[in-house]
Amino acid sequence: MTECPPQSIQTTCAYCGVGCGVRAPVAKEAEQLIAVAGDETHPANYGRLCSKGSALGETLIDEGRLLYPQINGYRSSWDQALDELVKRLKQTIEEYGPESVALYGSGQLLTEDYYVANKLMKGFIGSANIDTNSRLCMASTVAGHKRAFGTDTVPGCYEDLELADCLILVGSNTAWCHPVLFQRIRASQERRVKPAKVVVIDPRRTDSCDIADLFLPIRPGTDSILFNGLLVWLALHGKVDDAYLEQSTQGFADALDKAYETSPDIGTVAEKCGLSEVDVECFYRMFADHEKTVTAWSQGVNQSSAGTDKVNAIINCHLATGRVGLPGSTPFSLTGQPNAMGGREVGGLANQLAAHLEFHRPDDIERVSRFWQAPNMVQQPGLTAVDLLRAVESGEIRFIWIMGTNPVVSMPDADRVKAALQICPTVVVSDCIAPTDTGQCADILLPAAGWSEKDGTVTNSERRISRQRRFRPPTGEARADWAILSEVGRRLGHAEAFAYQCPADVFREHARLSALDNDPEARPRDFHIGGLAELSDQEYDQLQPVQWPLRSRTDNGTQRMFADGKFYTPSGKAQFVPIQETISAQATEAYPLLLNTGRIRDQWHTMTRTALAPRLNRHKDEPFLELNPADAASRGINDKALVTVRSSYGQSVLRATITDQVQPGQVFAPMHWTAQNSQTGRICSVAHPEVDPYSLQPDLKRTPV
Ligand code: SF4
Repeated sequence: MTECPPQSIQTTCAYCGVGCGVRAPVAKEAEQLIAVAGDETHPANYGRLCSKGSALGETLIDEGRLLYPQINGYRSSWDQALDELVKRLKQTIEEYGPESVALYGSGQLLTEDYYVANKLMKGFIGSANIDTNSRLCMASTVAGHKRAFGTDTVPGCYEDLELADCLILVGSNTAWCHPVLFQRIRASQERRVKPAKVVVIDPRRTDSCDIADLFLPIRPGTDSILFNGLLVWLALHGKVDDAYLEQSTQGFADALDKAYETSPDIGTVAEKCGLSEVDVECFYRMFADHEKTVTAWSQGVNQSSAGTDKVNAIINCHLATGRVGLPGSTPFSLTGQPNAMGGREVGGLANQLAAHLEFHRPDDIERVSRFWQAPNMVQQPGLTAVDLLRAVESGEIRFIWIMGTNPVVSMPDADRVKAALQICPTVVVSDCIAPTDTGQCADILLPAAGWSEKDGTVTNSERRISRQRRFRPPTGEARADWAILSEVGRRLGHAEAFAYQCPADVFREHARLSALDNDPEARPRDFHIGGLAELSDQEYDQLQPVQWPLRSRTDNGTQRMFADGKFYTPSGKAQFVPIQETISAQATEAYPLLLNTGRIRDQWHTMTRTALAPRLNRHKDEPFLELNPADAASRGINDKALVTVRSSYGQSVLRATITDQVQPGQVFAPMHWTAQNSQTGRICSVAHPEVDPYSLQPDLKRTPV
């Protein structure tokens, strides 16, 4: 823990979904190399920061910032840029209809930005084609939560990972991707007389295995087989909670029947999952023997063509044992981005409405429309990330606004995404960085305020809303995203609907919309922050971290959900989901290896910020491909050699790292490098665009190469 700056402001880290509190010095002028420290009062991190968080100050440099608006590569004033944007937007709508317009956002946006973007698109432009890079991050969990709980709710909190007697990490390198949470788990293990049993389930041995009692190097894509087997084993060994099943769930028998089909016994599970029978049984006994069990998962589960089923296979086992939303006993999804949760709250995905209202309920659409006084309210979901960019390619979408994300690097089949943007009649990119690979495809570039310059809220993985506060003036002519969007709304003729003067105005409206179920005719919903709807500007400014729901001003928030066994399905009971075996992309003779992609410890997304801190670049200084010694030997590849990794979509040249941390037949590459910092390391140009049928989340974990 570094020392707190003497005069500091409390804000929240800009990177991962842990949502750590940060203290930063108050600065009147933009400064360089600002020293930040962990906020010892923030309940997510209690003063801890990881390498990325502690280097935040080092990234606050003017070099590489997008400083002023540009049209077709030439500097313009804000007025000129917004006039041009609105002119093209109106022309596109007039000629091709509102559905020819799309917005692709980011889990980096603040809740207030997200709210205004969603309102503008779904209520006023009349297009639901607004999706975000959260589709690449959390969509499978959203779909899984809704199927099981009737709503997208994370039942537990971070403390549960410390209270558990058995902690299962599935498809999550927590040590690198949620480092402060991992520090909390490790510290709790060291404090406890009887530490928790820890199981890590991952095709790749990662640093998270350092605390594991049991590591299951599972065959990629077979997680559902393993958890279906657990459901069968629990039933056979009398370990299900019959009273809970009766009172609080439905569909157990069907889910169990289906689980018998895929995973009738430990031998079958072990064979299909590539594990030993002893290890599988050991895992099942650990789960069964510990009342306090938390199963936490991340992108290894979500980024899969069967991601939603994997989520429900896990939740099924927790429902069978009545372990949902109890202290130290719950399923728990680890969100990737700093505000993927906030985006979900305001309906940031193409298939969501604001405030967890639903497209499939006509009443919900009507409520949002009435609340917004929306002239062009959409009536059905729009296109999701992969399809949305395909629609750009086909010409169905002719105007796209990309905010705070870099899909030319991060989307699967990324070369095709780039080609689509290059032929799109209008591409607007708002970002704080220039140039990015996506920015190079832009007709209009808008400089956005970055972390330290903008004000608003974010929600972390445990439903905790925290303030991100401004402590420096914007660089160049940068503006806040909510303000840019509001100005476009006003120029389209909706002055009253977009009359926000400050982010607090937006937040209050968002909170009021969430409180619509104070209306006796409305159905009860999980997301409710009505207790924050009347905050004064000063109270908003001083808002301390709090977990939703909070329904009144005296409410202190909600640590856990569903402990009473009541859910938001029509019956009020949680729903078991029968899980079948799915066949994902397989290795072939032409493409005999399976490519897994992911993050490394010290970089974030496409490195536009983290690469500005020299010490973060020292951890891994170039793009690499991890491969097993047997696969290297059979191809005559030496350690550190340059290798070409190729799929039917694209290719990339990377430095070989030979390691038995990856299994034979599998390779791993980080997702961060871009054409801006490495001509050859852009791995998502290799990744296939297969998606999950329910969540439409791309499978970035198993491309045949
Ligand atoms: Fe930031 Fe995540 Fe690190 Fe916390 S764990 S400091 S939120 S990157």
